[in-house]
Amino acid sequence: MNVSKNRATKAHSFSLSIIPIALLIICVLGAMAILANRATSRTVGQGHERERRQVLQSFTFEADNLLQTLVRDEAIGDSFFTQRNSETLEKTLQRFSRRHNLDYIGVFSRVDGIALGESGEADIMAHRAASVRLLVENSKMRSVEGSTIGIGREARFVQDGQGLLVLVTIPVGRSGVVIATRPISSNVLRRFSTMLAIPNLRLIMGIRNDPNSTPIPSFDGSTRMSVIWDANNEAYDMLGELAVYGMIATLLIGAVGVYLFRRIRLRTEEILRREAKAHHEASHDVLSGLPNRAVYCEILMETLEEIKKKDQQAAVMLLDLDKFKEINDTYGHAAGDKVLIEFGNRTKELLRQSDIVARLGGDEFAVLLPAIRSQQDVTRLAQAIIDAANLPFMIDGIAMRIGVTIGIALAPDDGNDMATILRCADTALYRAKNDGRNRFALYEHKLNEVERMRKLVDDDLRGAIERDELTLVYQPQVHADTGRLASVEALVRWRHPVHGVISPATFISAAEERGLIVALGEWVLRRACKDAARWPNLRVGVNVSATQFRQKDFVDSVQRVMSEANIEPARIEVELTEGVLVHDADQAEAAMMQLRAIGVKLALDDFGTGYSSLIYLRRFAFDKIKIDKSFLDSMESSGESAILVHSVVHLGRALGLEVTAEGVETEEQRRFLQAVGCHFLQGYLFSRPVPPEEIDRLITLTEDLSLAAPKAA
Ligand code: C2E
Ligand code: CA
Ligand code: CA
Repeated sequence: MNVSKNRATKAHSFSLSIIPIALLIICVLGAMAILANRATSRTVGQGHERERRQVLQSFTFEADNLLQTLVRDEAIGDSFFTQRNSETLEKTLQRFSRRHNLDYIGVFSRVDGIALGESGEADIMAHRAASVRLLVENSKMRSVEGSTIGIGREARFVQDGQGLLVLVTIPVGRSGVVIATRPISSNVLRRFSTMLAIPNLRLIMGIRNDPNSTPIPSFDGSTRMSVIWDANNEAYDMLGELAVYGMIATLLIGAVGVYLFRRIRLRTEEILRREAKAHHEASHDVLSGLPNRAVYCEILMETLEEIKKKDQQAAVMLLDLDKFKEINDTYGHAAGDKVLIEFGNRTKELLRQSDIVARLGGDEFAVLLPAIRSQQDVTRLAQAIIDAANLPFMIDGIAMRIGVTIGIALAPDDGNDMATILRCADTALYRAKNDGRNRFALYEHKLNEVERMRKLVDDDLRGAIERDELTLVYQPQVHADTGRLASVEALVRWRHPVHGVISPATFISAAEERGLIVALGEWVLRRACKDAARWPNLRVGVNVSATQFRQKDFVDSVQRVMSEANIEPARIEVELTEGVLVHDADQAEAAMMQLRAIGVKLALDDFGTGYSSLIYLRRFAFDKIKIDKSFLDSMESSGESAILVHSVVHLGRALGLEVTAEGVETEEQRRFLQAVGCHFLQGYLFSRPVPPEEIDRLITLTEDLSLAAPKAA
């Protein structure tokens, strides 16, 4: 479920990421538009200024042109003035003005400004003559101190009436000045227009406050006319065009972007879907659709991390179907598969949303309860699963029956790492199977204790002998009849610096498993022989483990140790359990024969706990049997055991063996054992295992060596 959520978020975040990108694009486009607009308006402004300059330049050029042309004409000059006859002058002027396209020409005296002769087009003549005279007048005014009119060679353009003219003034000889005008016709304007690429260049009356216009001075210096032209907003047009193209491009890019985005999103979704499918297939069991082992372990690991933080409890159940193999064998795999699927469904229905059932493989399932309130909740659920499994499975019209065995471990009580918790659940499952299947078992801490001890032995026992942490205590065995001390049994103790005195019941088997028992056994034998040397009249029993006994050089080492301690072999009684005899009876027999040959005594320990086979008693050459404490314990509750003890003692005696009863705690037991003919008694009733010094003391204290029990009557 987490996984699909992740995928949805991925797709969502993908669509979210497009928004800032779109915003960014819009911002960039906006900024570009503003910049373009600014640059364009600057360009347009510069364009207008340039146009105005070009227009004025072309007028000036036109005027200059006329000036140059007139100046070059040889006719201009003194000839004008040599014709004193005004009529002839007029004709000369007319010819001249026709030649140069002038609409007016006048010749003035520079001395007094008087017109010597004028010619011009009839309709403008009067008016133009007045304007030019005014000009001459003004010039005369300006140079009133001097003797001549202040008119020099000059070309300019002026407005006059409705028209625009180029006007040139050319001093001629020493005393004359020629003033000529030529209209700038609409044709000329059109020519400028095309030449300069300034559209619709034209004249208007009045002044415009327009960037694409320029005022024209008139004769008197005032301005009443303007030249205007059409706004040449090419840059704007271009910008407009660009904007249109830009819009189109943006729309196209946008469309392509949207298309691509949708494609990518579809692809992404497709990939995510496929990924999810692949993930589901990889993480789920194909048959049942349940999570597989890998996913179970992953979630378990996460859960264990979480409960550490939240101080919660979780439960792990390992489930093993009973009689499943029979279904497979009888009805075929297809039926078996259906049972597995149905079992998975039934289990799932009993779980909460947060719980998980996984198929680990074959007919093994696992349940994880990530948050439990009590152990009872878990056991109740386990029972419910068992009940559900016990209901018949209707497959193809046949009612099939199975069972399920469940092992339960709780985290963090039983362990807080995956390996430990699974091992605990497996141990519990194993126990539930041993107890008869179709039931559940909770992991027990006692088992855990064994493991702890195993680890302790691993870590510390190896060095315990060198560090002198082992000691021996001795438990007396007394004559049943007299209560006199007959022998002692050496029992090893481990004084652990941290854990205190550790009983052999907990560390001997671990030492055996870890291969430390041989060294330990040798140490015990050596120490027991050393102590035995102090008690000349006592026999000392030494426990020998099966592993130790099976060592090839066991007999040799016993012999060596005894001779080193200078001990008579008959004073040592080796206590063996039936386990020694079960595995390799021949080898055991051989070793026993060797020991006997040396003179060592042999006792069969813990008789009644193992096979208790009487054959052993016949075949193997024991000197003594030690009846186990559990025999005495059950004797109290059932009369049968009493008969059994009786017959064992009887048998032992019949075979010529000594019989010792272990774990005698009550006076009643003592009396019974004495009555049935048991030779020796050992137990807390007489003495607990004690340090060797205590044995020293006992020997010196009681001359007859009798202990707590009263002498037999
Ligand atoms: P075990 O040989 O049967 O030793 C007798 C055990 O019963 C001793 O326990 C002893 O303390 C206990 N016991 C004696 N009388 C009574 C009684 O009246 N009531 C009760 N409840 N218990 C009594 P311990 O010393 O803990 O030894 C346990 C076992 O460890 C021994 O059982 C023996 O199998 C093994 N063991 C002890 N020392 C050695 C050793 O040096 N080598 C080997 N291989 N095994 C040893
Ligand atoms: Ca023993
Ligand atoms: Ca015993």
